[in-house]
Amino acid sequence: MIVVMKAHATEAEIQNIVRMVEELEYRAHIIRGVERTVVACVGEERGGHQLGHLESVAGVERVMPVLQPYKLASREVRPEGSRIRAGGVEIGGKRITVIAGPCAVESADQIGLAAEAVRRAGAHMLRGGAFKPRTSPYSFQGMEDEGLKLLEAAGRKVGLPVVTEIMDPHDIELVAEHCDMLQVGARNAQNFSLLRRLGKVRKPILLKRGMATRLEEFLMAAEYILSEGNPDVVLCERGIRTFETATRNTLDLNAVPLLKAQSHLPVIVDPSHGTGIWSLVTPMALAAVAAGADGLLIEVHPSPEQALSDGPQQLRPATFVDLMARLKPLAEAVGRTL
Ligand code: PEP
Ligand code: MN
Repeated sequence: MIVVMKAHATEAEIQNIVRMVEELEYRAHIIRGVERTVVACVGEERGGHQLGHLESVAGVERVMPVLQPYKLASREVRPEGSRIRAGGVEIGGKRITVIAGPCAVESADQIGLAAEAVRRAGAHMLRGGAFKPRTSPYSFQGMEDEGLKLLEAAGRKVGLPVVTEIMDPHDIELVAEHCDMLQVGARNAQNFSLLRRLGKVRKPILLKRGMATRLEEFLMAAEYILSEGNPDVVLCERGIRTFETATRNTLDLNAVPLLKAQSHLPVIVDPSHGTGIWSLVTPMALAAVAAGADGLLIEVHPSPEQALSDGPQQLRPATFVDLMARLKPLAEAVGRTL
């Protein structure tokens, strides 16, 4: 259930509702929108009828049920959509947010060159994996702690906030110390103990869709983070497993308008993992923005042929410059900026 407060409800009235909701043994989440505040009541639905009585309390406009199983991620609690800040960069506003960088941090030179290239081309955030979730235990696993420091330094040098993947709950503090945003990879999209722990972190979370995760399950994964108190979650469509083998994954662009309709959370698209083929990245990036994505995650490497992971899908800096040039008029055509 959600308690929609009147547009001019006072702070005392909001706090009074929170207290009454908690007395009914629900958890109260205050969601402050542009127009009005909503108090989302989460917990077992047993006493739902009692919440209905709150409609007569001062400052309350109405009490309504949230029909979806994801209560805090549902668009109903924030119809205007969420804007999330990651190291000073806004995701979910009018501007399309472009996050770019190599699959993995490989050396100081490599991440430094990548950072400069993506910054010059107009990216807003730098990415790079320090802990890599590889299919084989014999493949390069990332530079770990050293990689985190190199990523942070490279981002700072060019003035871009950084995002990297978190795999192990034990590393959360370390990663949060060095990065502006923490990424949950496709393979951990339903690692509920990791998601719960990230709900306690004071940094935004970039949550990737699992390769076999239905959209409702994806939103329930986001709900795990939100329900623990972290309101800053960005959803990322990165392709799913289908019968098709011509591409690494099938980029599900249906997900974009559907997630935007069902949830207030920003939605970005990763056409690099979504296709696995560098020449498909630009067309699918354009298609993602046309479909309503709030941003893009693009793998860019100074020399993809030497990459230690995901070489075939990483863009050269010059190709990324071309992508950004093509993106600008497309973004404007759909009422966005770059
Ligand atoms: C990545 O973005 O580095 C990555 C490993 O992606 P995914 O989790 O989507 O496979
Ligand atoms: Mn990769």
